[in-house]
Amino acid sequence: MTSALPLPPKLRWDDFIAAVRPRLAATAKFSLEEPLAAKTTIRIGGAARLYAEPGSAEDLRTLLIAAAAAGIAVFPLGRGSNLVIPDSGVDGLVISLAQESWATFEPRPDGRVWAGAGLRLKNLCGLAAKAGLTGFEFLEGIPGNLGGALRMNAGAMGGWMFDVVEAVQLITLAGEIRTVPRAAMHVDYRHCAELHAAIALGALLRPGSHADADAVSRQIDVYKKKRQESQPRDPSAGCIFKNPPGNSAGRLIDQTGLKGERVGDAEVSAVHANFIVNRGAATSADLVELVRRIRARVQAAHGIDLEPEVLLYGKNWSEVL
Ligand SMILES: Cc1cc2nc3c(=O)[nH]c(=O)nc-3n(C[C@H](O)[C@H](O)[C@H](O)COP(=O)(O)OP(=O)(O)OC[C@H]3O[C@@H](n4cnc5c(N)ncnc54)[C@H](O)[C@@H]3O)c2cc1C
Repeated sequence: MTSALPLPPKLRWDDFIAAVRPRLAATAKFSLEEPLAAKTTIRIGGAARLYAEPGSAEDLRTLLIAAAAAGIAVFPLGRGSNLVIPDSGVDGLVISLAQESWATFEPRPDGRVWAGAGLRLKNLCGLAAKAGLTGFEFLEGIPGNLGGALRMNAGAMGGWMFDVVEAVQLITLAGEIRTVPRAAMHVDYRHCAELHAAIALGALLRPGSHADADAVSRQIDVYKKKRQESQPRDPSAGCIFKNPPGNSAGRLIDQTGLKGERVGDAEVSAVHANFIVNRGAATSADLVELVRRIRARVQAAHGIDLEPEVLLYGKNWSEVL
Protein backbone atom coordinates (compact mmCIF):
# COMPACT_ATOMS: atom_id res chain seq x y z
CA MET A 1 0.00 0.00 0.00
CA THR A 2 1.74 3.10 -1.17
CA SER A 3 -0.54 5.98 -0.24
CA ALA A 4 1.95 7.22 2.35
CA LEU A 5 1.09 10.79 3.23
CA PRO A 6 3.00 12.74 5.84
CA LEU A 7 1.05 12.82 9.05
CA PRO A 8 -0.82 16.11 9.46
CA PRO A 9 1.49 18.25 11.63
CA LYS A 10 -1.12 18.72 14.36
CA LEU A 11 -1.56 14.98 14.93
CA ARG A 12 1.24 13.15 16.71
CA TRP A 13 1.66 9.41 16.51
CA ASP A 14 1.33 9.10 20.30
CA ASP A 15 -1.92 11.09 20.23
CA PHE A 16 -3.26 8.52 17.78
CA ILE A 17 -2.31 5.64 20.09
CA ALA A 18 -3.85 7.41 23.10
CA ALA A 19 -7.11 7.95 21.21
CA VAL A 20 -7.42 4.43 19.74
CA ARG A 21 -5.94 2.17 22.43
CA PRO A 22 -9.01 2.30 24.73
CA ARG A 23 -11.19 1.08 21.85
CA LEU A 24 -9.16 -2.12 21.35
CA ALA A 25 -9.22 -5.38 23.32
CA ALA A 26 -6.51 -5.58 25.98
CA THR A 27 -4.93 -8.48 24.05
CA ALA A 28 -4.27 -6.34 20.96
CA LYS A 29 -0.67 -5.19 20.66
CA PHE A 30 -0.38 -1.50 19.73
CA SER A 31 2.95 0.31 19.92
CA LEU A 32 5.03 3.28 18.83
CA GLU A 33 8.40 3.03 17.04
CA GLU A 34 8.29 -0.77 16.82
CA PRO A 35 11.56 -2.14 15.36
CA LEU A 36 10.77 -4.12 12.22
CA ALA A 37 14.09 -5.65 11.10
CA ALA A 38 13.62 -8.73 13.29
CA LYS A 39 10.15 -9.23 11.82
CA THR A 40 11.67 -9.74 8.35
CA THR A 41 13.73 -12.61 6.97
CA ILE A 42 16.54 -10.36 5.68
CA ARG A 43 16.74 -8.48 9.00
CA ILE A 44 17.15 -5.00 7.58
CA GLY A 45 15.48 -1.67 8.27
CA GLY A 46 14.06 0.76 10.78
CA ALA A 47 10.93 1.02 12.91
CA ALA A 48 7.22 1.44 12.28
CA ARG A 49 5.94 4.77 13.59
CA LEU A 50 2.80 2.79 14.62
CA TYR A 51 2.48 -1.01 14.87
CA ALA A 52 -0.53 -3.17 15.71
CA GLU A 53 -1.31 -6.85 16.13
CA PRO A 54 -5.10 -7.01 16.39
CA GLY A 55 -6.62 -10.31 17.52
CA SER A 56 -10.04 -9.92 15.93
CA ALA A 57 -11.75 -8.52 12.85
CA GLU A 58 -13.48 -6.01 15.10
CA ASP A 59 -10.17 -4.58 16.36
CA LEU A 60 -8.75 -4.59 12.86
CA ARG A 61 -11.77 -2.63 11.65
CA THR A 62 -11.41 -0.10 14.50
CA LEU A 63 -7.75 0.45 13.56
CA LEU A 64 -8.48 0.86 9.85
CA ILE A 65 -11.33 3.30 10.35
CA ALA A 66 -9.31 5.38 12.81
CA ALA A 67 -6.28 5.42 10.48
CA ALA A 68 -8.41 6.46 7.51
CA ALA A 69 -10.01 9.26 9.54
CA ALA A 70 -6.55 10.54 10.59
CA GLY A 71 -5.07 10.21 7.08
CA ILE A 72 -2.54 7.62 8.26
CA ALA A 73 -1.25 5.14 5.67
CA VAL A 74 -1.72 1.46 6.53
CA PHE A 75 0.76 -1.31 5.66
CA PRO A 76 -0.02 -5.00 6.22
CA LEU A 77 2.94 -7.12 7.25
CA GLY A 78 3.06 -10.90 6.90
CA ARG A 79 6.24 -12.76 7.83
CA GLY A 80 8.34 -10.11 6.13
CA SER A 81 9.89 -12.58 3.69
CA ASN A 82 9.40 -10.60 0.49
CA LEU A 83 10.29 -7.09 1.54
CA VAL A 84 12.99 -4.70 2.60
CA ILE A 85 12.20 -2.12 5.26
CA PRO A 86 13.84 1.26 4.57
CA ASP A 87 16.45 2.34 7.14
CA SER A 88 14.21 5.31 7.98
CA GLY A 89 11.38 2.94 8.88
CA VAL A 90 7.74 3.23 7.91
CA ASP A 91 5.69 6.42 8.27
CA GLY A 92 2.34 4.87 8.98
CA LEU A 93 0.51 2.06 10.74
CA VAL A 94 1.95 -1.41 10.17
CA ILE A 95 -0.61 -4.13 10.87
CA SER A 96 0.39 -7.74 11.42
CA LEU A 97 -2.01 -10.67 11.74
CA ALA A 98 0.51 -12.45 13.98
CA GLN A 99 -1.95 -13.47 16.69
CA GLU A 100 -2.96 -17.16 16.74
CA SER A 101 -6.60 -16.30 15.99
CA TRP A 102 -5.61 -15.57 12.35
CA ALA A 103 -3.84 -18.90 11.82
CA THR A 104 -6.86 -21.19 11.44
CA PHE A 105 -6.94 -24.33 9.26
CA GLU A 106 -10.45 -25.77 8.94
CA PRO A 107 -11.17 -28.64 6.53
CA ARG A 108 -14.83 -28.56 5.46
CA PRO A 109 -17.07 -31.57 4.85
CA ASP A 110 -17.22 -30.70 1.11
CA GLY A 111 -13.44 -31.18 0.82
CA ARG A 112 -12.47 -27.52 0.76
CA VAL A 113 -10.35 -25.84 3.45
CA TRP A 114 -10.74 -22.47 5.13
CA ALA A 115 -7.38 -21.00 6.13
CA GLY A 116 -6.64 -17.80 8.02
CA ALA A 117 -4.31 -15.19 6.51
CA GLY A 118 -1.91 -15.52 9.44
CA LEU A 119 -1.36 -19.24 8.83
CA ARG A 120 2.29 -19.97 7.96
CA LEU A 121 2.65 -21.71 4.61
CA LYS A 122 4.80 -24.31 6.34
CA ASN A 123 1.89 -25.14 8.64
CA LEU A 124 -0.59 -25.10 5.76
CA CYS A 125 1.57 -27.71 4.00
CA GLY A 126 2.03 -29.80 7.13
CA LEU A 127 -1.64 -29.75 8.17
CA ALA A 128 -2.79 -30.55 4.62
CA ALA A 129 -0.34 -33.46 4.44
CA LYS A 130 -1.61 -34.79 7.78
CA ALA A 131 -5.17 -34.62 6.47
CA GLY A 132 -4.09 -36.40 3.25
CA LEU A 133 -4.91 -33.34 1.10
CA THR A 134 -2.82 -32.77 -2.02
CA GLY A 135 -2.22 -29.58 -3.99
CA PHE A 136 -0.32 -27.46 -1.44
CA GLU A 137 3.04 -29.24 -1.57
CA PHE A 138 4.63 -26.57 -3.81
CA LEU A 139 4.30 -24.05 -0.96
CA GLU A 140 6.83 -25.96 1.14
CA GLY A 141 9.82 -23.79 1.96
CA ILE A 142 8.22 -20.43 1.07
CA PRO A 143 8.73 -18.67 4.40
CA GLY A 144 5.60 -16.48 4.30
CA ASN A 145 2.09 -16.75 5.62
CA LEU A 146 -1.11 -17.13 3.62
CA GLY A 147 -1.89 -13.38 3.50
CA GLY A 148 1.51 -12.53 2.02
CA ALA A 149 1.29 -15.45 -0.40
CA LEU A 150 -2.10 -14.21 -1.64
CA ARG A 151 -0.86 -10.63 -2.13
CA MET A 152 2.24 -11.90 -3.98
CA ASN A 153 0.55 -14.85 -5.72
CA ALA A 154 3.54 -16.80 -4.47
CA GLY A 155 4.69 -19.64 -6.66
CA ALA A 156 7.20 -22.45 -6.82
CA MET A 157 7.81 -25.78 -8.49
CA GLY A 158 5.29 -24.97 -11.24
CA GLY A 159 2.44 -24.08 -8.84
CA TRP A 160 0.91 -20.71 -7.95
CA MET A 161 -1.01 -19.68 -4.84
CA PHE A 162 -4.10 -18.78 -6.81
CA ASP A 163 -4.19 -22.27 -8.43
CA VAL A 164 -5.67 -23.49 -5.15
CA VAL A 165 -7.82 -20.48 -4.16
CA GLU A 166 -11.61 -20.43 -4.53
CA ALA A 167 -12.33 -17.17 -2.72
CA VAL A 168 -10.56 -14.61 -0.56
CA GLN A 169 -12.05 -12.83 2.40
CA LEU A 170 -10.64 -9.33 2.72
CA ILE A 171 -11.22 -6.11 4.61
CA THR A 172 -11.01 -2.81 2.75
CA LEU A 173 -9.17 0.15 4.20
CA ALA A 174 -12.60 1.60 4.98
CA GLY A 175 -13.29 -1.41 7.20
CA GLU A 176 -15.73 -3.29 4.96
CA ILE A 177 -15.41 -7.09 4.94
CA ARG A 178 -15.98 -8.80 1.57
CA THR A 179 -15.59 -12.25 0.13
CA VAL A 180 -14.28 -12.12 -3.44
CA PRO A 181 -14.46 -15.21 -5.66
CA ARG A 182 -11.27 -16.20 -7.48
CA ALA A 183 -12.92 -15.53 -10.86
CA ALA A 184 -13.41 -11.85 -9.95
CA MET A 185 -9.78 -11.33 -8.88
CA HIS A 186 -6.99 -9.89 -11.03
CA VAL A 187 -4.00 -12.03 -10.41
CA ASP A 188 -0.66 -12.09 -12.16
CA TYR A 189 3.03 -12.92 -11.62
CA ARG A 190 3.72 -11.98 -7.97
CA HIS A 191 0.70 -9.73 -7.90
CA CYS A 192 -2.94 -9.60 -6.79
CA ALA A 193 -4.64 -6.29 -7.62
CA GLU A 194 -7.48 -6.68 -5.08
CA LEU A 195 -4.95 -6.80 -2.20
CA HIS A 196 -3.22 -3.53 -3.04
CA ALA A 197 -5.59 -1.56 -0.89
CA ALA A 198 -7.08 -4.25 1.33
CA ILE A 199 -6.00 -6.81 3.90
CA ALA A 200 -6.63 -10.51 3.29
CA LEU A 201 -8.26 -12.16 6.29
CA GLY A 202 -8.30 -15.69 4.93
CA ALA A 203 -9.16 -17.82 1.94
CA LEU A 204 -11.25 -20.77 0.90
CA LEU A 205 -8.83 -23.26 -0.63
CA ARG A 206 -9.50 -26.16 -2.94
CA PRO A 207 -7.19 -29.15 -2.44
CA GLY A 208 -6.35 -31.36 -5.43
CA SER A 209 -7.52 -34.70 -4.12
CA HIS A 210 -7.18 -37.02 -1.18
CA ALA A 211 -4.05 -39.10 -0.95
CA ASP A 212 -2.15 -41.10 1.56
CA ALA A 213 -0.57 -38.71 4.13
CA ASP A 214 2.85 -40.39 3.66
CA ALA A 215 2.73 -39.84 -0.11
CA VAL A 216 2.01 -36.11 0.39
CA SER A 217 4.85 -35.86 2.92
CA ARG A 218 7.25 -37.60 0.52
CA GLN A 219 6.48 -35.03 -2.21
CA ILE A 220 7.05 -32.22 0.31
CA ASP A 221 10.44 -33.75 1.17
CA VAL A 222 11.42 -33.79 -2.53
CA TYR A 223 10.68 -30.06 -2.82
CA LYS A 224 12.45 -29.34 0.47
CA LYS A 225 15.62 -31.07 -0.76
CA LYS A 226 15.51 -29.18 -4.08
CA ARG A 227 15.32 -25.87 -2.22
CA GLN A 228 18.09 -26.74 0.22
CA GLU A 229 20.39 -27.49 -2.70
CA SER A 230 19.62 -24.33 -4.67
CA GLN A 231 19.03 -21.53 -2.16
CA PRO A 232 21.28 -19.73 0.32
CA ARG A 233 20.86 -20.24 4.06
CA ASP A 234 21.91 -16.67 4.96
CA PRO A 235 19.15 -14.13 5.70
CA SER A 236 17.50 -12.94 2.48
CA ALA A 237 14.18 -11.73 1.12
CA GLY A 238 13.93 -14.44 -1.52
CA CYS A 239 14.41 -13.68 -5.21
CA ILE A 240 15.35 -10.04 -5.54
CA PHE A 241 14.21 -9.62 -9.19
CA LYS A 242 11.30 -10.98 -11.21
CA ASN A 243 12.25 -13.31 -14.02
CA PRO A 244 11.98 -11.42 -17.31
CA PRO A 245 9.59 -13.17 -19.75
CA GLY A 246 11.22 -16.38 -21.01
CA ASN A 247 14.41 -15.75 -19.04
CA SER A 248 15.93 -16.29 -15.62
CA ALA A 249 17.06 -13.27 -13.59
CA GLY A 250 19.49 -15.49 -11.66
CA ARG A 251 21.17 -16.70 -14.86
CA LEU A 252 21.44 -13.16 -16.28
CA ILE A 253 23.07 -11.88 -13.08
CA ASP A 254 25.36 -14.91 -12.87
CA GLN A 255 26.55 -14.32 -16.46
CA THR A 256 27.70 -10.80 -15.52
CA GLY A 257 30.01 -12.29 -12.89
CA LEU A 258 28.29 -10.57 -9.98
CA LYS A 259 28.10 -13.52 -7.57
CA GLY A 260 29.82 -12.40 -4.37
CA GLU A 261 29.55 -8.68 -5.27
CA ARG A 262 29.15 -6.73 -2.06
CA VAL A 263 28.02 -3.31 -0.80
CA GLY A 264 28.56 -3.11 2.97
CA ASP A 265 27.10 -6.35 4.32
CA ALA A 266 24.67 -6.85 1.40
CA GLU A 267 26.03 -9.51 -0.94
CA VAL A 268 24.92 -11.23 -4.14
CA SER A 269 24.66 -14.83 -2.98
CA ALA A 270 27.33 -17.21 -4.24
CA VAL A 271 24.70 -19.98 -4.16
CA HIS A 272 21.97 -18.28 -6.23
CA ALA A 273 22.67 -14.99 -8.02
CA ASN A 274 19.06 -13.77 -7.72
CA PHE A 275 19.34 -13.65 -3.92
CA ILE A 276 20.92 -10.79 -1.97
CA VAL A 277 21.98 -11.98 1.46
CA ASN A 278 22.63 -10.01 4.62
CA ARG A 279 26.11 -10.97 5.86
CA GLY A 280 25.54 -9.33 9.23
CA ALA A 281 24.77 -5.63 9.42
CA ALA A 282 23.47 -4.75 5.95
CA THR A 283 21.33 -1.62 5.67
CA SER A 284 18.61 -0.92 3.16
CA ALA A 285 20.94 1.73 1.66
CA ASP A 286 23.53 -1.04 1.01
CA LEU A 287 20.90 -3.24 -0.58
CA VAL A 288 19.49 -0.47 -2.77
CA GLU A 289 23.01 0.39 -4.00
CA LEU A 290 23.63 -3.29 -4.82
CA VAL A 291 20.29 -3.50 -6.67
CA ARG A 292 21.33 -0.43 -8.71
CA ARG A 293 24.68 -1.99 -9.53
CA ILE A 294 23.14 -5.32 -10.61
CA ARG A 295 20.55 -3.60 -12.80
CA ALA A 296 23.19 -1.45 -14.49
CA ARG A 297 25.45 -4.45 -15.19
CA VAL A 298 22.60 -6.62 -16.55
CA GLN A 299 21.34 -3.73 -18.68
CA ALA A 300 24.84 -3.15 -20.10
CA ALA A 301 25.47 -6.85 -20.77
CA HIS A 302 22.05 -8.05 -21.91
CA GLY A 303 19.97 -4.93 -22.63
CA ILE A 304 17.37 -6.07 -20.09
CA ASP A 305 15.92 -3.95 -17.27
CA LEU A 306 15.42 -6.21 -14.27
CA GLU A 307 12.37 -5.37 -12.20
CA PRO A 308 12.58 -5.92 -8.43
CA GLU A 309 10.31 -8.64 -7.06
CA VAL A 310 11.13 -7.79 -3.46
CA LEU A 311 9.10 -4.84 -2.23
CA LEU A 312 10.64 -1.71 -0.75
CA TYR A 313 8.17 -1.46 2.07
CA GLY A 314 6.20 1.78 2.21
CA LYS A 315 7.96 3.18 -0.87
CA ASN A 316 8.19 2.56 -4.60
CA TRP A 317 11.45 1.34 -6.12
CA SER A 318 11.11 4.13 -8.70
CA GLU A 319 11.77 6.64 -5.87
CA VAL A 320 15.25 5.21 -5.24
CA LEU A 321 16.47 3.57 -8.45
C1 LIG B 1 14.45 -18.09 1.40
C2 LIG B 1 13.23 -17.57 0.68
C3 LIG B 1 12.64 -18.33 -0.31
C4 LIG B 1 11.52 -17.84 -1.00
N1 LIG B 1 10.97 -18.62 -1.99
C5 LIG B 1 9.90 -18.16 -2.67
C6 LIG B 1 9.30 -18.94 -3.70
O1 LIG B 1 9.72 -20.04 -4.02
N2 LIG B 1 8.22 -18.42 -4.35
C7 LIG B 1 7.69 -17.20 -4.03
O2 LIG B 1 6.70 -16.79 -4.65
N3 LIG B 1 8.24 -16.44 -3.04
C8 LIG B 1 9.31 -16.88 -2.36
N4 LIG B 1 9.86 -16.11 -1.37
C9 LIG B 1 9.28 -14.77 -1.09
C10 LIG B 1 8.17 -14.76 -0.01
O3 LIG B 1 8.39 -15.79 0.93
C11 LIG B 1 6.77 -14.89 -0.59
O4 LIG B 1 6.48 -13.84 -1.48
C12 LIG B 1 5.69 -14.90 0.52
O5 LIG B 1 4.46 -15.21 -0.05
C13 LIG B 1 5.58 -13.56 1.24
O6 LIG B 1 4.76 -13.77 2.38
P1 LIG B 1 4.96 -12.93 3.72
O7 LIG B 1 3.91 -13.36 4.67
O8 LIG B 1 6.35 -13.02 4.20
O9 LIG B 1 4.63 -11.47 3.17
P2 LIG B 1 5.41 -10.11 3.49
O10 LIG B 1 6.79 -10.21 2.93
O11 LIG B 1 5.27 -9.75 4.91
O12 LIG B 1 4.58 -9.10 2.60
C14 LIG B 1 4.61 -9.14 1.20
C15 LIG B 1 3.52 -8.21 0.67
O13 LIG B 1 2.27 -8.74 1.03
C16 LIG B 1 1.53 -7.77 1.78
N5 LIG B 1 0.74 -8.51 2.76
C17 LIG B 1 1.17 -9.28 3.78
N6 LIG B 1 0.13 -9.81 4.44
C18 LIG B 1 -0.98 -9.36 3.82
C19 LIG B 1 -2.39 -9.53 4.03
N7 LIG B 1 -2.86 -10.29 5.03
N8 LIG B 1 -3.24 -8.90 3.19
C20 LIG B 1 -2.78 -8.12 2.18
N9 LIG B 1 -1.49 -7.90 1.94
C21 LIG B 1 -0.60 -8.53 2.75
C22 LIG B 1 2.55 -6.84 2.38
O14 LIG B 1 2.01 -5.56 2.64
C23 LIG B 1 3.57 -6.80 1.26
O15 LIG B 1 3.11 -5.90 0.28
C24 LIG B 1 10.98 -16.58 -0.66
C25 LIG B 1 11.56 -15.82 0.36
C26 LIG B 1 12.68 -16.31 1.03
C27 LIG B 1 13.27 -15.48 2.13
